[in-house]
Order: sequence, then structure tokens, then C-alpha cells
Amino acid sequence: MFTDTHCHLTDDYCAGDELDNVIARAHAENVGRLICATADPNDILPSIKIAESHDNVFVTVGIHPEYADMDAREYLTANVLSHPRVVGVGEIGLDYHERNDNRDAQIKLFTQQLEIAREYGLPVAIHTRDADNDTADILKDVHGVMHCFTSGWELAKTMLDRGFYFSASGILTFKNATEIRETFSKIPIDRIVIETDAPYCAPVPYRGKTCEPFMVTQTAKVLSEIKNLQIDELETILEQNTLNLYPKIKQ
Ligand SMILES: [Zn+2]
Repeated sequence: MFTDTHCHLTDDYCAGDELDNVIARAHAENVGRLICATADPNDILPSIKIAESHDNVFVTVGIHPEYADMDAREYLTANVLSHPRVVGVGEIGLDYHERNDNRDAQIKLFTQQLEIAREYGLPVAIHTRDADNDTADILKDVHGVMHCFTSGWELAKTMLDRGFYFSASGILTFKNATEIRETFSKIPIDRIVIETDAPYCAPVPYRGKTCEPFMVTQTAKVLSEIKNLQIDELETILEQNTLNLYPKIKQ
């Protein structure tokens, strides 16, 4: 069984009855566990509700830097963080690609959410774009995963030394992603997990379509080639990595 360690299940492609179809299509492709991440704080409670009604769904709760003016304590409450299906804090981080005129606000929100993750002993799922230096400066004394990792080897090395995991998304399959494949070839296999980031970043051969969790098998395929592993060997390793990264899944 594969896990899609980062997808968004509160978006339009999952509206109404479609959610059950999306989950069924994932199961049919041996993607048996989904970890739903939140970006918009208003998706936190609906995501938990989905997990409560679907055995194989877990949640990471966080506020994306796009919502830099929010107060995380208002949304990341004790009830939310101690919920048995909430396994981590994310996605959180810095995005200077989208906006870099509000760096202080982004850093404030990011720092606040890291504090919360430490308080609850939860791993973090990190979004970082065009912000490698600040991310590396701030991201200390926590464990977690660099989600949809597309930064270069320098940040990879720094975060490897701090015990982080790295999540490969559909981007790993893109024709022009040579550098990212090279970075993943150097990251030890026991530090890698996979994700779709659905509905974004559909892998080859689904590019241009709405991305769905079942497509994570395409990323697994490319990763197995990079690492020279049989797909079932990779499946076993990724399962162990996922449980090591998110120990609350086992409880
Ligand atoms: Zn995401």
C-alpha cells in the first residue's frame, strides 16, 4: 500500500459525492492511505470531519504563508491538535515567490506555528519557495518533512543533517525536472516519502488534468527508477518512512 502523504481533500474536485470516488480510485491503485493537508485555516475543521468518516484519512493542520495575517492560535486549538487523526502541523512555511512584501508577517506566522508544533510534539510539513535562507534559519528544533521538495541540494543537505524527510511530488516526473531528480538521487531512501499535492502538480502522463491521490503511483514509479529498486521494495520502505515521519498514525 502507498500513502499519498500530502493532498488537499477540501477542494472542488472532492465536492459532494466526488470525495468517495476520489478515495475509491486511490484504493483501486493501491494508494490506501491519504494525509490531507490544510492551507486555508477554514479547511481545518472540514478536513478533520473527512478523516472522522474515512478510516484511511489523516490530517495535518496548518496555515499556508498565503494567509500571513492570521493568528494561528485561533485555529490550531488544543482540541484540533490533540485529535487522534491529526498527525502533524502543515502546511506551513514561507513563500517569497508569491509575495515578498510581507516577509515579516510570513515569518511571524511560521514561527508561531513551529512553536505550536513543538508544544504538541507534532512533526511539521514545510512549504518553502524562493525562501531557502530564511527557512533554514527558522526551521530548528522540530522534526518533519519538506513537502513537495523542489529546492536545491544545499537546503536538502542542511535539512538532512537536521533529520528531516523529503517529499517527492508529481514534479519528479516532469521532463524538465532533471535537477530535482538528481537531488532525490542523493537523498537517502530512508528519508523520502511521496505525495501528490492534489489538486496541483499532476504527474506525467496526467499533466494538465486535475491531480488526484491515485496518481501518486507515477511518482513512485519514477522514484523506483532513480533508486534502482523494485516497486514493491520501494512500497515497503516508503510505508516505514511514512510511519516514522508521522508516528501518530500507528496509535
Ligand atoms: Zn499543499
